[in-house]
Amino acid sequence: MAATLELRRLSKRYEAAHALQEVSFVANEGEFVVVVGPSGCGKSTLLRVVAGLDEISSGEVVLNGRVVNTIEPKDRDIAMVFQNYALYPHMSVEGNMAYGLRMRGVTKPEIAKRVRDVAQLLELTPLLKRMPRELSGGQRQRVAIGRAIVRQPSLFLFDEPLSNLDARLRAQMRLELRKLHRRLGVTSIYVTHDQTEAMTLGERIVVMIEGRIQQIGSPTEIYERPASVFVASFIGSPPMNLFKATFAANGEWMTFSGKVDLRLAQARPNLAGAPVVLGLRPEHLRCGSRDEHALPVTIDTIETLGFEQLVYGDVDGQPVVLRVPSHEVFRPGETTWAHFAPESVHYFNASTGQRLNTALTC
Ligand code: ADP
Ligand code: MG
Repeated sequence: MAATLELRRLSKRYEAAHALQEVSFVANEGEFVVVVGPSGCGKSTLLRVVAGLDEISSGEVVLNGRVVNTIEPKDRDIAMVFQNYALYPHMSVEGNMAYGLRMRGVTKPEIAKRVRDVAQLLELTPLLKRMPRELSGGQRQRVAIGRAIVRQPSLFLFDEPLSNLDARLRAQMRLELRKLHRRLGVTSIYVTHDQTEAMTLGERIVVMIEGRIQQIGSPTEIYERPASVFVASFIGSPPMNLFKATFAANGEWMTFSGKVDLRLAQARPNLAGAPVVLGLRPEHLRCGSRDEHALPVTIDTIETLGFEQLVYGDVDGQPVVLRVPSHEVFRPGETTWAHFAPESVHYFNASTGQRLNTALTC
């Protein structure tokens, strides 16, 4: 049975670090939740306390409605997959997959059946007799996942399981993990520092920084309505352009460090006089002719990606990147004008970094 996991104001303090601060969220039965954040934000700590490998400083881990804070890891019905595979080097693939079951006293025929079934599911059957050193990185990771699946846990915890693989294999394994989750339907918490992985895998994404949750939402919600400057700059590649600017007293114009003025298609009387951070995604900027509703971009470098190109430059000294069709021609040193639709503008509080525009998509 797939578990429901609820975290209630979880905190974990180390002597030098406050690794988790009042972290609360629910993973529903069968859900695949991705926790994403930069290195050191507390992702591994989060999984370790859920698994029971680390003690919690305060808060509760609730599994299927029961507080499990004091329950031993082996009695939590959770399987964890680590970044470094953690296979036993002196055991074959089969041995590695069977080991946890043997320790739990599962019968021999039952072990053989489960290993056979999971090996088939993960296309590991031809590799069962091999030793870990005779496997590629991708195959080892698949064995590590297989070892978790044979246990038939009600909750999977994945700690950056794909980070040691090359880009092509990572993309392939992402697809396999999605398929696998669809077939098994086991509730999963997957942590990663890679925003692409989070966007492509997560049904729901939890964005963390410095031990705190910044935002919880679907990939689309998080992409379209980032709750803070941090989320805006962390999710999306290349990241959202963020400009420091100040609203004029009438809320119709914005000033960029005194030189560049921008007339807004939608006035913001409520923000009159306010210093803000203005956010625009690279793909929401179009190049056009001079206009008071557009930003002057001094072009620096151009990166061709095939059907599109990335144009890097600055707006009054603040860096900007535009994602535009590859047939448009740009030259370093030129100035172009970046146009955008009013609904693609994001505003953030200049001092707190929190999102200001809460209505609709802007
Ligand atoms: P992530 O997995 O997101 O990279 P971690 O959960 O490993 O982050 O670490 C979160 C914070 O807690 C970091 O500041 C890290 O240095 C600290 N930390 C992690 N484990 C320990 C530990 N065993 N003792 C002391 N500090 C730790
Ligand atoms: Mg980690």
